[in-house]
Amino acid sequence: MDLKGMIREVQDFPKEGISFKDITTILSDKDALRYVIDQMADQLEDMDIDVIVGPEARGFIVGTPVAYKLGKAFVPIRKPGKLPAETVKYEYELEYGTDALEIHKDAIKPGMKVAILDDLLATGGTVLAAAKLIEGLGGTVVSLNFLIELSFLKGRETLKDYNVKTLVSYD
Ligand code: 5GP
Repeated sequence: MDLKGMIREVQDFPKEGISFKDITTILSDKDALRYVIDQMADQLEDMDIDVIVGPEARGFIVGTPVAYKLGKAFVPIRKPGKLPAETVKYEYELEYGTDALEIHKDAIKPGMKVAILDDLLATGGTVLAAAKLIEGLGGTVVSLNFLIELSFLKGRETLKDYNVKTLVSYD
């Protein structure tokens, strides 16, 4: 399937100079949606994992159906203040300022093997923060899986200590 041909590129979104990769054109096509979820699940099929973790919001969209397909659980990671029970937070640097992500403290048990899924790898900052949260709770991150990789942003260098897999790459 020509996934690249199905991903809509929106120029100057969310700000000038950015060519945003819009995955809603994949989600709204039943065959493409099934293909993407099947491919991401295939990449994890032979791996020993206990749980899939996905950062909001598009990590939920790809993470939960892959977890369902593999017969695994799903754990969300969210922006501060969104998760209702006791959380742990990880703050990370952006180009201007900082950002933060949270996970429920009881969602990852020591020794759990985790795969983190998201729609797109850009700089790698989001998923690195997610990995740090999981490791802080005693989990092990065994795989990072994305639908899209913007390889020119060198996220793989940020994530060099991890096993990274993607379906589509933009140079
Ligand atoms: P990073 O932390 O790797 O720099 O950015 C990745 C995060 O930003 C992902 O959670 C992803 O959903 C979002 N993101 C950044 N750029 C794009 C884009 O062009 N398309 C989509 N769909 N998501 C993006």
